[in-house]
Amino acid sequence: MELHIINTGNFMADGGAIFGVVPKVMWEKKYPCDENNYCNLTMRCLLIKTGDRVILIDTGIGDKQSEKFLSYQHLNGDDSMEKSFAAIGTSYDEVTDVILTHLHFDHCGGAVKRDAEDNLVLTFPNATHWLAQAQWDNFNKPNIREGSVYFKENILPVLESGQLKFIKEDTQLIPEVEMRLFNGHTKGQIIPLIQYKDKTLVYTADLIPVMPSVPEAWVSAYDADPITAMTEKREFLKEAVEKEYILFFEHDLYNECCHVIKTDKGIKEGESFKLDSIL
Ligand SMILES: [Zn+2]
Repeated sequence: MELHIINTGNFMADGGAIFGVVPKVMWEKKYPCDENNYCNLTMRCLLIKTGDRVILIDTGIGDKQSEKFLSYQHLNGDDSMEKSFAAIGTSYDEVTDVILTHLHFDHCGGAVKRDAEDNLVLTFPNATHWLAQAQWDNFNKPNIREGSVYFKENILPVLESGQLKFIKEDTQLIPEVEMRLFNGHTKGQIIPLIQYKDKTLVYTADLIPVMPSVPEAWVSAYDADPITAMTEKREFLKEAVEKEYILFFEHDLYNECCHVIKTDKGIKEGESFKLDSIL
């Protein structure tokens, strides 16, 4: 199995929103912000090559939204999906599977692009796209908060292509990749668990968006159901300690991976390390 990071660029979000009820005096020691309280977040996707499968997890924000909308996200950095694919000598056509953890725009926007005639087309034309049924239902009938982060153009072209498949429960995509469902951040978020050599790597998406969000009380104000988010995280962290999982962060610009450790004050993040160091 080969693992490749696909960096798709950075955006900024308010630190208070990212860290919820945690006071700024605590979170700013662990994650920097600028004078406007904005934290810089990345959109770090992961490509898995194994056997005849090329599996991409999440797709970043993409580039088809209006300039006005994109300007609100304060996009920055030199990374793009295109550059990241070129760097590993892989074409979009080779991707066989796209796991969409959920349909918030910073996770799925890159799955659909505009062609030269301004038609919306699939970025990965040969891929089966995997989504949770519960997330699809939530997208079609969003709660008052999530309505503003869902966009039809990010997913309807995938549905219309016949290349969208839904999962209703925890599902093995292949023997080495499990798609596990969580409901606190949003209903039916897929968290992929990847068996790599003798290790388990967890793509934590918005279950644990950045490394300082490991402790169970550090839940984001973006979580639709914070009590469920905390309960799910408690269970997950227990398992992560026992099984020595490696957490891989989608949004943490400064930290790619860590283990979690048990302390007298609960389970916390261990030392940060690069994915490269285990490959
Ligand atoms: Zn999200």
